[in-house]
Amino acid sequence: MMEVRAKKALGQHFLTDQKVARAIVDALSCPVPTGRLFPVLEVGPGMGVLTQYLLEREDIDLKLIEIDSESVEYLLTHFAGMQGRLMEGDFLTLKLEKLFPEQFAIIGNFPYNISSQIFFKVLDYKDQIPQVVGMVQKEVAERIAEKPGSKTYGILSVLLQAWYDIEYLFTVGSGCFAPPPKVESAVIRLTRNSRTDLGCDEALFKTVVKTAFGQRRKMMRNPLKPLARAKAERSGWSEEQLADFLAQEVFSLRPERLSVEDFVALTNLLA
Ligand code: SAH
Repeated sequence: MMEVRAKKALGQHFLTDQKVARAIVDALSCPVPTGRLFPVLEVGPGMGVLTQYLLEREDIDLKLIEIDSESVEYLLTHFAGMQGRLMEGDFLTLKLEKLFPEQFAIIGNFPYNISSQIFFKVLDYKDQIPQVVGMVQKEVAERIAEKPGSKTYGILSVLLQAWYDIEYLFTVGSGCFAPPPKVESAVIRLTRNSRTDLGCDEALFKTVVKTAFGQRRKMMRNPLKPLARAKAERSGWSEEQLADFLAQEVFSLRPERLSVEDFVALTNLLA
């Protein structure tokens, strides 16, 4: 069978550099429970440039999810042992808890148009996913790894850094792909930290972070006002008490200045 014809709508840029492919697979260092293969899910295998090296690893039990039927057909004809491993479908709607009753890792050259959604899904399953190794657009990799105070620090940086240690591993030039993407790429590794409890309400934390970054160049007082007002109503405060509450210094800061711990404190303030 011929090679898969690259489809732009599916974010298909096939990695052609074998050294890079091997380095990505080598970067996966998921903890292996004694005597058992560690379950790993590859997202978007395409023509299998990562898959070939993943299949060589004796410490992992590989599964694959690919949305493109042409790629699925290619993989079935070019690789042995795909039956029972390879699923045709959308990672974003995949019921991961049905597929993996316990822990599993994720690896992939992610389709760049849905990389943020992939990470939000990882967060939904954070207690089952000890590690993610992924290639993304360079800017996205930088943003996720960024520390507070930088201009690109944002929602995903805070939410992911709350639960994962982030490593920016290496940059990959567009010449390593066919067809070459317009942007540079980078490989990052997310390894689950030891946090089991945030010290605040998790759902409210997410809401506070997302709301605070709604106007990222402004003081947080404006975007957070509705959340403060909701608290005022719950607590039976007067308008004056609400104004005093919002006069606190933290509300004069821009969201990009706050660390994970600062957002935890802010969430408790608004709870
Ligand atoms: N891993 C391959 C392909 C990377 S391109 C390589 O390195 O060469 C991204 C791949 O993700 C494509 O194969 C594309 O078909 C697949 N893909 C896109 N959206 C997807 C989705 N929602 N779920 C699963 N796979 C998807």
